[in-house]
Amino acid sequence: MKKKKIAVLGSTGSIGVQALKIIKEFSENFELSLISANSSDKLLLEQALFFQPKHVIINTESGYSYIKKNLKSPFTKLHLGDQALCDLIEGEDFDIVLVAIVGFAALLPTISAIKSGKKIALANKETLVVAGQIISSLVEKHDGNIIPVDSEHSAIFQCIQGESFDSVKNIILTASGGPFRGYNKQQLENVSLKNALKHPNWNMGAKITIDSATLMNKGFELIETKWLFDVSFEKIKVVVHPESIIHSLVEYQDGSVIAQLGEPSMYIPILYALNFPKRIKSSAPKLDLIKIKSLNFEEPNKKIFKHLGLAYEAIKCGGSYGCVLNASNEVAVSAFLKEKIRFIDMIKIIEKSIEKITFVQNPNLEDLLEIDLETRKFANSII
Ligand code: NAD
Ligand code: MG
Repeated sequence: MKKKKIAVLGSTGSIGVQALKIIKEFSENFELSLISANSSDKLLLEQALFFQPKHVIINTESGYSYIKKNLKSPFTKLHLGDQALCDLIEGEDFDIVLVAIVGFAALLPTISAIKSGKKIALANKETLVVAGQIISSLVEKHDGNIIPVDSEHSAIFQCIQGESFDSVKNIILTASGGPFRGYNKQQLENVSLKNALKHPNWNMGAKITIDSATLMNKGFELIETKWLFDVSFEKIKVVVHPESIIHSLVEYQDGSVIAQLGEPSMYIPILYALNFPKRIKSSAPKLDLIKIKSLNFEEPNKKIFKHLGLAYEAIKCGGSYGCVLNASNEVAVSAFLKEKIRFIDMIKIIEKSIEKITFVQNPNLEDLLEIDLETRKFANSII
């Protein structure tokens, strides 16, 4: 069997590291051809020495010098910066590009992958929040192929296999509710960074963990659902399910509801995306329903977790709304992670940014790059 050549963008992150473990476990199926990171030079070097991929890309000059000094491999070429990454994605031969970079930074590499006809396993969701319209048009034009890695979207994707999409009535996204589920306004005023970083079920990167605590993550996933599955916002529902065992559900016109279940682990969604359309025997944590006993569900509280409402607004308005929402959220989360602002200040920064930045109905890519910068500048100025 020919091994699938995999490029992992963001290999040092939470998803990236788990993907590399899977590639190691199934080394007869996969070959790691490219890894990239922003600044985590030590881990990137370790990965490069172990896997000996053809290409390694890092964004910082100090990281580049460090790896250059220590990477003594005749097989592996080292590169510096975003543009090099995009050029390699376009020019080299990969069977799958796993996009596991966090935030807006994944946008241009994702576009390079689509334009050069690569199959994409997409973990990053911010790209679709910012530029869903542009990405969908490009996918259509280049006959692209995006397989979702986000657990809810992997679940939906698994639930629609073999079905006609016309018969879908609703898509139901499950949400854990995060560490502050059930909190009131007053309680939220005093939450600490430490507690916000303690997700009840999932172990993830810092940014998405904070997004899960504010429910921005679920909001982004609504937008992600719209673009991945081409459904109108009226058909996308969110239900809080604190156990994170049901990863999402699809309700059909005949009344049937199909769900995908599993322990809260990204192992299955990553493996499924890399191996699609085949399933493979794996060491995934086994689901034990007797031990779990009960599954619970409740409505999300949109009055307290206002980020969710903003995401519905972004779907309804379209245009540059998602770009401003994402950029102001990235700035707000980064400031919260540095303890410069309180938990409840994040929403204020986002709302003020949406109010301030001029809305554009049909932005092109250059417009979005500009709006992203303008929003970051404004959001930073009010912190
Ligand atoms: P992370 O912060 O752990 O890792 C991010 C990776 O991106 C790192 O390798 C980092 O070096 C790289 N990176 C950061 N900034 C970059 C830049 N400017 N240019 C190039 N590379 C850069 O993040 P994560 O938790 O692994 O999440 C990655 C993406 O996957 C996010 O979009 C997140 O929403 C999505 N996702 C994550 C999970 C999860 O379980 N962690 C689940 C579903 C979806
Ligand atoms: Mg998710």
